[in-house]
Amino acid sequence: MQDCIFCKIVKKEIPAEIVYEDEHVMAFKDIHPAAPVHLLLIPKKHIPTFFDLADEDVSIIGRVQLAAARVAQQLNLEEKGFRLVSNCKEDAGQLIFHIHYHLLGGRALQWPPG
Ligand code: AMP
Repeated sequence: MQDCIFCKIVKKEIPAEIVYEDEHVMAFKDIHPAAPVHLLLIPKKHIPTFFDLADEDVSIIGRVQLAAARVAQQLNLEEKGFRLVSNCKEDAGQLIFHIHYHLLGGRALQWPPG
């Protein structure tokens, strides 16, 4: 989508610190990190929210979650773990309308979130 900032990162039209990329998935560092490790994992396909998912997108979402686990392993988060969280629409705090998961780790995280 033309005005989507994450689509621009996928197309390398704007810079990002990319830590993982394959045919369907990209992971890059969040510009405002909330933890020592704070990555964003996205499907390369532009899907605004979970409400826009189609049956054909099931494998893409699975690939995003698998990539999260693989990247977390590479960052030595396997022992202590990590949080994978996605905000869906306004009340959850979604600011960028291109599905993304925050991967947070490297410190003990509080629960429940605010
Ligand atoms: P959300 O509020 O769940 O939509 O999260 C959007 C996230 O995208 C925020 O944590 C922002 O810090 C992050 N963000 C916005 N623009 C960029 C960018 N150009 N590169 C990396 N992260 C970004």
